[in-house]
Amino acid sequence: VTATSARLLAAGAVDGERLVRHHRQLAQIGATPDGGVRREAFTDEDVRARELVIGWAAARGFAVESDPFANMFIRRAGQRPDLPPVVTGSHIDSQPAGGAFDGAYGVLAGWEALEAIDDAGIETTRSIELAIWTNEEGSRFQPTTMGSAVFAGALSLAEVFRASDAAGHTAGDALRQLLTRLDLAVRREFAFPMHAFVEAHIEQGPLLERAGKTIGAVHTIQGLRWFRIRVHGQTAHAGTTPAAERRDALMAAVSMVEGLSELMRDPSDVVRFTVGRFEVRPGSPNTIPEDVLFTVDFRHPDSAVLSALGDQVETVCRARAGRCEVAVEESLDAPPTVLDAQITQMVRDAGRDLGIELMDIDSGATHDAKYLAGLCPTAMIFIPCRNGVSHTPAEHAEPADMIAGARVLAAVVTELAIDVPNQ
Ligand SMILES: [Zn+2]
Repeated sequence: VTATSARLLAAGAVDGERLVRHHRQLAQIGATPDGGVRREAFTDEDVRARELVIGWAAARGFAVESDPFANMFIRRAGQRPDLPPVVTGSHIDSQPAGGAFDGAYGVLAGWEALEAIDDAGIETTRSIELAIWTNEEGSRFQPTTMGSAVFAGALSLAEVFRASDAAGHTAGDALRQLLTRLDLAVRREFAFPMHAFVEAHIEQGPLLERAGKTIGAVHTIQGLRWFRIRVHGQTAHAGTTPAAERRDALMAAVSMVEGLSELMRDPSDVVRFTVGRFEVRPGSPNTIPEDVLFTVDFRHPDSAVLSALGDQVETVCRARAGRCEVAVEESLDAPPTVLDAQITQMVRDAGRDLGIELMDIDSGATHDAKYLAGLCPTAMIFIPCRNGVSHTPAEHAEPADMIAGARVLAAVVTELAIDVPNQ
C-alpha cells in the first residue's frame, strides 16, 4: 500500500455518524442549559470526559499513557514502535461558559482518525497517537496552554504547581487528585520525540465561513505582545481645580488610547488591538483621577509588524502623557509561530484529493500546537464555526464540516505514519 492510496483509504473509512455521536456524548459532560459546556481543567467534568475517551480506547485495545502533568497519549501501535510516533490531538477542557467544540473537536477528529485507520486495517510504519493536552483554557489555573507549555519545557512543573484558583486550591493538588481518580499510567517523559504533530480545531473566527470554505490550512499562529500602562497624576477637587493646574490621569490615559488606536490603524484589518482593562482610581465622581491602569493586547502574524508597532507603544504613551507620569511595562512578547510547510502542503493535497474546499489561513487564537511546533514539525487544520463565535455557549460547527476535517486529518496522519524514507 502506498502512502497515497492509504491516505484515501483512511479518509474513506471516517464514520461521520460515529463522530457526531461521540461529539454528542462528550458535550453532555458539563452541559449547561443554554447548550454550552462548563468543563474546566481538573474538575469532575474533566475527569469524566477523559474517562469517556479512555473507555473508547479500551474497547479498541489502544494503550493510554500519561506524562507527569496528565497530558494523555492514546496509541495505535505501528509496525515500528521504536520510531517517534505521529501525534494528533487538542484539549478537552472548556471555558467556564464555553461551547462544545473548542478543543473537543480536535480530540474527537483525532479519535475518529484513529478508529478509521483501524477499521480500514491500515498498517502504518509509525505509531499514531491521540494527545489530550491538560488545561489549555487556563480559566481556572493560569496561564493558558499550560499542559503543552509544561510538556515543551516553556514552564516548569514547580511553576505551574503553584498556580491557584479562586478558591485557593493549587494546580499541583488538583493534578494529584485527577491522576489518582483516573489511575493513569504515568510513563511518558515531557518532550518525548515525536515525528509530527497535527491539531484540528474550529477556526474561532469568521474567515472560513465568510469565504464559503470547509477547511483552513493554517500557515501561522499569530504573535502577541501585552503591555500594562500605568498613568499617574494627582487627585484634586473636581469643583475648584483650574484646568491648567490639573494632572488628570484619566484624560491622559484616554489620549494615549486614542494615539495607540491611530498607531494601530490598519486598512487591511490584520492588526488586532485591544484595551481590555481600564481601571481608574480613586473612582470618585467629584475627584480628579490620580491613577489609571490599562492594558494593551496587540496581535499580528508578521514579526516585523509586531516589532515595528509594538516598539512604538511606549513612545506614543509618553507623547500623550501631558503633565502626568507614565510607566509602560511589557508583560508578554510571544513571536508568531510559522507552522510546517510540508505538512501544510499535505493538508492542501488531501483537501484537493477529497474534493473539499480549502483555503490558507492564519490563526488568530493561541493553541497547543504553538508549543509543539518548537519540538517537531507541526500543522493545524481549521473548520468553520457559525458566525465565527467561540468561548460562548453559542459556539457551533456543522456536522458536515466536522466530518470533512476528520477525513483530511485521517489522510494526513496516515501519510505521515506510512512514509518513512530511507529506513
Ligand atoms: Zn481550543
